[in-house]
Amino acid sequence: MQDAIKEIISLHLGKVLINEKLANHTTYRVGGKARCICIPKGTEELIKLLKIIKEKKIKHIVLGNGSNVLFSDNIYDGIIIKLDNFNKINIDKNIITVGAGYPLIKLSNDAMRNSLKGMEFMGGIPGTVGGAVFMNAGAYGEDTASIIESVKIINSDLEVVNLSQKDMKYSYRTSMLQDHLDYICIEATFKLEPGDKEEIENIMKTRREQRKASQPLNFPSAGSVFRNPPNMYAGKLIEDMGLKGFTIGKAMVSEKHANFIINTGNAKASDIKKIIDTIKVKALSKYNVRLRVEQRLINWVGVSEKDKEED
Ligand SMILES: Cc1cc2nc3c(=O)[nH]c(=O)nc-3n(C[C@H](O)[C@H](O)[C@H](O)COP(=O)(O)OP(=O)(O)OC[C@H]3O[C@@H](n4cnc5c(N)ncnc54)[C@H](O)[C@@H]3O)c2cc1C
Repeated sequence: MQDAIKEIISLHLGKVLINEKLANHTTYRVGGKARCICIPKGTEELIKLLKIIKEKKIKHIVLGNGSNVLFSDNIYDGIIIKLDNFNKINIDKNIITVGAGYPLIKLSNDAMRNSLKGMEFMGGIPGTVGGAVFMNAGAYGEDTASIIESVKIINSDLEVVNLSQKDMKYSYRTSMLQDHLDYICIEATFKLEPGDKEEIENIMKTRREQRKASQPLNFPSAGSVFRNPPNMYAGKLIEDMGLKGFTIGKAMVSEKHANFIINTGNAKASDIKKIIDTIKVKALSKYNVRLRVEQRLINWVGVSEKDKEED
């Protein structure tokens, strides 16, 4: 690992952060330290970085804005790749091609300013394009899958490949990338519809206000914790179990929105995880509902990153 870090630094592949607190890179503001975070300058440097990682068999993960992840409090003994420099955007009529590190809120505003509709739902989602492509982020019955045209990835053979919307195998908050954790999205192309700028702006404004009224945006969180079970709202279920305000350490089920767990000040990742586990156990025993975590659980001993149906 130490050799790899030295090589990455000597090759000037990008910014390197050593023993960096993951709390600085996640919206929950929790997590242990990362042995190394690397922010490659571009595609060429990213491929060189991945070659080193592959050769030396180093554990690694790509991180967007960290708004849908829960890292454990343990050190992440590997390399975290951040694509902050993949931030170019090109708008050609109704087609937007944009780098994986581009922020979704900025992107939806760009679309609005160009009188393009279809991205209004992204207006309050604090992630990046890569995170949305991976998670199939969505809101108000719309999602990334409905506007994506193609996705540029680096595959396990370190080749740059274009995937179609169909290749992405999208469904509710799921994409094929979740079954191919070695694939890295570097760019996405979206197809939007021409629309009325003022109308789009008004929709976005109304939704921003709705979010402010219904979500605990003044506390660190990672949005909705659980996927909605079929024909049910996870938040309603948690509220019905009387768990609003349920607290462990400095983590709490939000009083405002029961599907949010908030960090009320220096929470440990393990406080949040304990709340998640408590909710799951209660939902199963009280309602026979197997709640599935939407957020990615990273670096937990014996816990799968993806909360699979069969778990
Ligand atoms: C206040 C709040 C509100 C939210 N509201 C919504 C909402 O309305 N709808 C919704 O869907 N989500 C919502 N979220 C959750 C989150 O913002 C989205 O899931 C978002 O798409 C995650 O993007 P990210 O860049 O932060 O991804 P991260 O959290 O950094 O990563 C999530 C997963 O994607 C993978 N990943 C990230 N980038 C790449 C890449 N380039 N290539 C391959 N894999 C990658 C990571 O490895 C990780 O497994 C909300 C979160 C918060 C904090």
